Amino acid sequence: MNKEIHTVIIGSGISGLSLAHFLSKSSQDLLVLESDSRVGGIIHTEIKNQFICENGPNTVLLNNEAILELIQDCGLIEKLEYPTTVADKNRFVLRKGKLTMVPTSLLKFICTPLLSQRAKIGVLRDLFVKRHVQNTTVYDFVSARFGMEIHDQLIEPFITGIYAGNTKKMSAQHSLKILWQLEQKYGSIIKGFFSRDKNKRGQGSFQLPIGLSQLTEKIADLIGERIQLNCTVHKITTKSNGYEIDTGKDLILCKRLISTIPAHGLKRLIADQSFIQVLEKVNYSPVNVFHYGLKKENIKNKKQGFGVLTKPSDGKNYLGVLFSSRTFGHVAPEGFELYTVIVGGERQRELCDLPIEDLERIVLSELEELLEHDGEVNFKNHFRWKKGIPQYDMNHQELLDSIARFQAKNKDFYVMGNFHGGVSVSDCIKKSKKLASELEKREP
Ligand SMILES: Cc1cc2nc3c(=O)[nH]c(=O)nc-3n(C[C@H](O)[C@H](O)[C@H](O)COP(=O)(O)OP(=O)(O)OC[C@H]3O[C@@H](n4cnc5c(N)ncnc54)[C@H](O)[C@@H]3O)c2cc1C
Repeated sequence: MNKEIHTVIIGSGISGLSLAHFLSKSSQDLLVLESDSRVGGIIHTEIKNQFICENGPNTVLLNNEAILELIQDCGLIEKLEYPTTVADKNRFVLRKGKLTMVPTSLLKFICTPLLSQRAKIGVLRDLFVKRHVQNTTVYDFVSARFGMEIHDQLIEPFITGIYAGNTKKMSAQHSLKILWQLEQKYGSIIKGFFSRDKNKRGQGSFQLPIGLSQLTEKIADLIGERIQLNCTVHKITTKSNGYEIDTGKDLILCKRLISTIPAHGLKRLIADQSFIQVLEKVNYSPVNVFHYGLKKENIKNKKQGFGVLTKPSDGKNYLGVLFSSRTFGHVAPEGFELYTVIVGGERQRELCDLPIEDLERIVLSELEELLEHDGEVNFKNHFRWKKGIPQYDMNHQELLDSIARFQAKNKDFYVMGNFHGGVSVSDCIKKSKKLASELEKREP
């Protein structure tokens, strides 16, 4: 069957859904095509045995106007669940295998056992090192400004937490965008931190009563029948009056086309060889997500906090453990704790090739040691993202230039999604809002 629609959005992850929502405020003539049988993409909550398990993001940052607008439109503002105060404050890394608090104030920084005196004084070099004139790796950037120990003990675990990436390959300009911009603007990150607009510092995060899929399902409700599930786009052909989309069932002609799918999916749909070659280079880290439900009374380690992130020298077979129910009490039934263990990334690629039972055994024994757990495992769950998190590596600028060239050649074809411009949920929503506003201005 042939259809004509003004705007087609491919993908109903948070990028596609939020874009459809913002665009539909000015025009209803749009359609979202989704290959899966559910909306949300990487946002994927599963509720089993009263445990609320997040296979994708666990928390979302409330750090921009677009996400606030979206939550308000969805009627969820009163329903937001915030982390417990102690979880919000306490984040751990490992020191000699033990949970050690990451310093969050100047006093704690001075007192932390994580760093040598030399490393603590060494951060002041940031005030004197010249700003970078060209992009460099995250490793070189952080080491040059703050010293290697700060990189190894503090920055690398956090980069692991966001990107599951390799700091020696990642682009500082694109992966540490805020720090890079502070350096470029103020000549020093420390100076920049104290000089920047205080209103921009708020970075609270949230969850929802039945998990983050509650947000994507609510947006989908608002968009209604303009989302088509189980509808894979197989091919895009440029026509004189727009783009023809082949879904195997329908041929859809649209004037405006917005892709929000991953780079490895988009490259199969288009014919532009030079763009395909660049898309092929976007590297995605695999991620395994394990959930464990344990009886509180069987856990000796009672430390409260958001969770722990590891660095390569810890020698652990996990990237991090989120203390999910210690952060958001509602995600586990009474008397139980829920833990989310993340394995994979660039550092643990080979572990992702292990049979899942073997990997699970290794992960569980390390978790039990960390928590000093003795007793039955009451609940477990596993999910594998073969291509989980896109890496903003040193070739990232080539990708951005290539996207700009592709969009200039292909009028009204927009390439969105998490593989450029920010990987977090809140960044994806912000990008959608920005594009929707630009398009609205163009076509009142
Ligand atoms: C394990 C993990 C943990 C994370 N944790 C956090 C976190 O705590 N906080 C945070 O802010 N961010 C986190 N992120 C990042 C964030 O969740 C993602 O970057 C974001 O959700 C991506 O949304 P998206 O819409 O751009 O892409 P996706 O969610 O990948 O959506 C793309 C959609 O397109 C569909 N699709 C693909 N190909 C086709 C096709 N040919 N035709 C039709 N449809 C197609 C897919 O089925 C999918 O639904 C995490 C990511 C992972 C993997």
